Amino acid sequence: MCHKTFAKELDYLTCPECGELGILDIKYDYEQMKQEVNQAYFQNNKEDSIWRYLPMLSVNEEFTKNTLRVGMTPLYKALNLGKILDMDHLYVKDEGVNPTQSLKDRASVIAVVKALEKNQKVIACSSTGNAASSLAGNAAKAGLETVIFVPKRAPLGKLAQLLVYGSTVIKVDGDYKAAFNLSKLAIDAFGWYNRNAAINPHLVEGKKTIALEIGEQLDFVSPDWVVVSVGDGCTIAGVYKGFYDLFMLGLIGKIPRLLGVQSEGCAPFYKAFLENKPLEPAEENTIADSIAVGIPRNPVKAIDAVNHSEGTWISVTDEQILQAMKLLGSTEGIFAEPAAAASLAGLVKARKENIIEKEATVVFISTGNGLKDTKNALDAIEEPVTLACDIDIFIEYMKKKKEK
Ligand SMILES: *Cc1c(COP(=O)(O)O)cnc(C)c1O
Ligand SMILES: [Zn+2]
Repeated sequence: MCHKTFAKELDYLTCPECGELGILDIKYDYEQMKQEVNQAYFQNNKEDSIWRYLPMLSVNEEFTKNTLRVGMTPLYKALNLGKILDMDHLYVKDEGVNPTQSLKDRASVIAVVKALEKNQKVIACSSTGNAASSLAGNAAKAGLETVIFVPKRAPLGKLAQLLVYGSTVIKVDGDYKAAFNLSKLAIDAFGWYNRNAAINPHLVEGKKTIALEIGEQLDFVSPDWVVVSVGDGCTIAGVYKGFYDLFMLGLIGKIPRLLGVQSEGCAPFYKAFLENKPLEPAEENTIADSIAVGIPRNPVKAIDAVNHSEGTWISVTDEQILQAMKLLGSTEGIFAEPAAAASLAGLVKARKENIIEKEATVVFISTGNGLKDTKNALDAIEEPVTLACDIDIFIEYMKKKKEK
């Protein structure tokens, strides 16, 4: 915000003058990085996790040896879905196959390494679900303790993950804001390592690896658009940073345009964009719990990411999210949680409004696995039929179904 630069030895997370919104951004010497990171570097690299990008990350390699295998998720060409949406070059990046089934693992594994670097034993965070369950799993692997503050409405699947991974879980009586505030007070009081997404610039570095992978998977030809669902804004900021790095290294020719997708029930970024006004706190009124963030913690980087990429914002209803969830599952075999299906819902809308054209190469990110939240998924589909154990009745049923 003030464009000051600080030495890395100071180890600041936010700018001392700008305060909490002044989240630092990690700067690299790209001329130096170029010496090591080039096309040949990737061709000869057998590492099957985000650690294949070590020279592009702000971690100490020594502490990366005992982690879950994060990243290197598939980028599928979505042929069936492409036909339905009348798109020639559509791809989906399936983040639901990460170790704890969401994109958050890219940030959490970095948080764990940072805590190890500092010889900290306990990591804490507040989360609507995935950041927490992801931190819990990644910390367990590294032998660290976790204390997690969750809002009352965290979905059961994510809560179950936390408890199985052995976290100390505090359900805060209130929304995400309340959970965030208590975690902050607790971290200050106990001196734990802070994994709260926005505040920690190293975590955006972890999230940027998704863009590095997309770059590699498309043979360093940038897509025209990347579609990302947005809550705090760290993910879309990370996607931008990854493409920015590749661009600065001369590995890609352009940075893709970013489409930020929000849920209508909680759309502070979209509203601010639409009305050309500063962000205002929003209600958190959506089934897409992972993007139900009324006061986004990384607004500056998220807005910059969309602006600098010449992208735009869109919002979708819960109904459209549920339709997209069913569409993605039935056409591409990917079961997405609501916040993940939101990106497809945004793409569907952007196609209808012709914001995104038929010929464009488009990647949408499915950020998390649907098994985390089966309650909402069951609202997206019809109840199955119940039949007697009788083949004639079954044949009759199939006949009728065909006629329909
Ligand atoms: C966290 C999350 C997002 C959004 O990321 P932000 O950094 O909060 O914008 C989207 N989808 C899923 C599944 C998530 O867990
Ligand atoms: Zn500043």
